[in-house]
Amino acid sequence: MRENAECAQARAAHVHICHREANVNKARVKTKHPWDLVNGLVRGGLIRRVSPAMIHTYFAYMTSEYPRTAATGHGMLLVQLGGDHYGQPLSAAGARSMFRRAGLRAGLGRVHPHQTRHNFATAVLDASGGNLVIARDAGGWASSATVDEIYGHTDIHDPQFQAVLRKVWSQT
Ligand SMILES: [Zn+2]
Repeated sequence: MRENAECAQARAAHVHICHREANVNKARVKTKHPWDLVNGLVRGGLIRRVSPAMIHTYFAYMTSEYPRTAATGHGMLLVQLGGDHYGQPLSAAGARSMFRRAGLRAGLGRVHPHQTRHNFATAVLDASGGNLVIARDAGGWASSATVDEIYGHTDIHDPQFQAVLRKVWSQT
């Protein structure tokens, strides 16, 4: 997560997203970019920038809650912090339910992890004036055509869009 990390694969703070088949909780990332781990240094995988909030949350969690036994054992990040399975990795279902409870606590109603990806894509498109290439690279989509297909559609609240519709509708 550090800037100027030893891997030298990105100057800004970043993560390497690495596919592993043998995780104890059977979780796997979809992406299969080649990677390796030499002397504790990861190279390769899919590299993504991380936000200041992500870095802050990561270090707060690692220094205050994350059990040392988990670090030396399975090495997975999201673990159970109480109960009989303290220190064991969260299952995918466990992570989803944690996310759902957090959404309810925050007054957001029922939320699904994938919504964060949609919201992020929409926010990046808004902030970049609809730049599909920036959105593709920021969100890790394989092609800007995919972003266009999923998110690049007209904002239905856009005044120009509404004006066009009103015009067309008044002609029929
Ligand atoms: Zn790196």
